[in-house]
Amino acid sequence: MTYDVETYRKDFPALAQEIHGHPLAYLDTAASALKPRAVIDAMSRFLERDYANIHRGVHELSQRSTDMYEAVRPMIRDFISAGREEEIVFTHGATDAANLVAQAWGRTFLKTGDEIVITALEHHANIVPWQLLREQIGIVLRVVPVTPEGEVRIEDVKAALSDRTRLVAFAHVSNVLGTILPAKEIAALAHDAGALVFVDGAQSISHLPVDVRDIDADFFVFSGHKIYGPTGIGALYAKQKILESMPPYQGGGDMIASVTFEKTTFKDPPFRFEAGTPPIAEVVGLGAALRYVSEIGMDNIAAHEDEILRYATEALSGIEGVRIVGTAKNKSGIVSFIMEHAHPHDIGTVLDRSGVAIRAGHHCAQPLMEHLGLTATARASFGLYTNKADIDALAAAVRKVREIFG
Ligand code: PMP
Repeated sequence: MTYDVETYRKDFPALAQEIHGHPLAYLDTAASALKPRAVIDAMSRFLERDYANIHRGVHELSQRSTDMYEAVRPMIRDFISAGREEEIVFTHGATDAANLVAQAWGRTFLKTGDEIVITALEHHANIVPWQLLREQIGIVLRVVPVTPEGEVRIEDVKAALSDRTRLVAFAHVSNVLGTILPAKEIAALAHDAGALVFVDGAQSISHLPVDVRDIDADFFVFSGHKIYGPTGIGALYAKQKILESMPPYQGGGDMIASVTFEKTTFKDPPFRFEAGTPPIAEVVGLGAALRYVSEIGMDNIAAHEDEILRYATEALSGIEGVRIVGTAKNKSGIVSFIMEHAHPHDIGTVLDRSGVAIRAGHHCAQPLMEHLGLTATARASFGLYTNKADIDALAAAVRKVREIFG
C-alpha cells in the first residue's frame, strides 16, 4: 500500500488553516495530536443523538450510550493486543493511570525499603507518582542512566536491579529524545529479578504497533489525546490477576456491588477502578480515533513517520549551529535540538511567526534535562499527517533563526 499523506491530511480540519500568513506546519504532535473529522463527528453525533449517563439506565438513550461506551473497551484490548477486555480500565489519561497504579497497587503491596527502578529519561508522570509513594511508605527510587546519545543500556538496567526491586517503570518511547526503549528485553530482566513491569505508552501508542503480551508488560498506560482522540480519557492495561488483587483507588458511584453504612463491597475489575460518571463522549471519541488509525494501519503510520524522521534529521543536521539532542539508533518521530546562540524559547517564537508549531522547554522531563546538562530543547514531533513540506518549512524557519541570532 502506498501511504497517501495528502489524503490523510484532508481528514484533519485544523491543517487547512494559515498561521501568521503561512500554511500551518504542526510539529507538536508529541504534546497532543490534532483531531480527524472522524473523531469530531463521532463525538458530536453521539452528543446530539445518543448521549445519556451510562450503566443501570433502563431507558433507550442510556442503553445506547452504555453500549457505545462499552464497545470501546474491546477495541482498546485489540489495539494493544491484550487478552481480555476486563484488563482495560478507563482513566483520564496516562498520568491518571500511573497514579492509580502507584496508589492502588504500590500502596497496597510495597513496603519500606522496596525499590522501584525508573530511567533518567522519564516524563514527570512516571516519576512523581512514585515519589509520592516514597513519601507515603518509604520506598526507594533507583534511576538507570541514559547515554549521551539518549539510549538506555540493558547492562545499566541490570545493574539497577536488586532483590528489593518490585517494579521497573519506563517510557516505551521518550517524549524528549524519541528513543524507543527495548521494552521486551527490559521486561524480561525485570521479571527475572521478580519485579513487575510498568510501561508508559504515552508516546508509543500512536507511533508503533503495541503488543502488551509480547512485551509482557504487567501495566501499560496511555492517553487518548496523543492518538488523535480527545483529552480527558486514557487507559490502564493491567494483567487480570494483578488487577483482581488491587483494592479500589477512588470510591464513589458505579464501582460498588453494594453499600450500607457498615460495609461496602466492590465490583470486579475494571469497574472497581472507575468511580463516578466517566467522560462518556470522550470514550466514544477515543473509539473513533482507534478505528481511524487502525484503518490506516499502525505499521504504515510507523513506516511513514520513520521516513519523515530521517528527512527531518538530515535537514536539521545540515544547518550550521544546530545540534540534535537524542541520536539513538532506534527512534520514533521526535527531533529535539538546540542552537548555538538562540534559546529554545526564542527558536519556538521565531518558528511560530512562520507558521511552524514546535514545543520549547523541558518537556516535563526536568531530571533528563539536568542529566544531559541542558535547561531546555526545541522539539519537533511528527504524526501520521506530517509531510515533507512541514519539514521544509521547519528547516527554512530554523535558518531564519540562525540569521537573526547568528
Ligand atoms: N508520559 C509521556 C512519555 C508523555 O509524553 C506524556 C505526555 N506529554 C505523559 C506521560 C503524560 O500524559 P498525559 O499528560 O496525557 O497524562
